[in-house]
Amino acid sequence: MPLRIVHYNEPVLRTKGEKVNAFDAALAQLVADMVAAMHQAGGIGLAAQQIGYSLQLCVVDLRESDADFSWELDNARPPLDLFMPLAIANPQITVTPGTDETLFEEGCLSFPKIRGDVARPDTITVKFKDERGVPHILKCDGLFSRCIQHEADHLNGVLFIDRMDKKTRATVDDAVKALAKATKAEAKK
Ligand SMILES: [Zn+2]
Repeated sequence: MPLRIVHYNEPVLRTKGEKVNAFDAALAQLVADMVAAMHQAGGIGLAAQQIGYSLQLCVVDLRESDADFSWELDNARPPLDLFMPLAIANPQITVTPGTDETLFEEGCLSFPKIRGDVARPDTITVKFKDERGVPHILKCDGLFSRCIQHEADHLNGVLFIDRMDKKTRATVDDAVKALAKATKAEAKK
């Protein structure tokens, strides 16, 4: 059975994840479970916090996305099929100096049906380890970059509603409050 995805405002979504240190069979299993949960929910990214684990770990899979973006993984440009779904442990993001900020409507599997525009820098470089502990350097832009920034925020307890400007945040406020209430009621059951 796929793992349950936690909804706002379960406290784990606000916790900063611990660094991944053990790249063992248990981690490989967790990654496989996260990928299954992400695919089942139709998402392009999922953070450990979203399945109740406070870890610096997320998975992404943009193979089904028709968005236009570019990437360079370890100085090469392998096809997405070769490295996705991709597990990202202990990411360190550097924003490319001088890159544009872009505005794009985001959603989040922990916020069903809630969407809103979020501004983020376009091009980033991310250093991370995969589920086997192998270090990588990935440069990317567009939706790929946005997805990683959204997931990396989760690992630090930051949510996309925190990144919305005041006006956008106000448009989703009722839905966010209703979701928090529903989550609380569910927890009491
Ligand atoms: Zn999210």
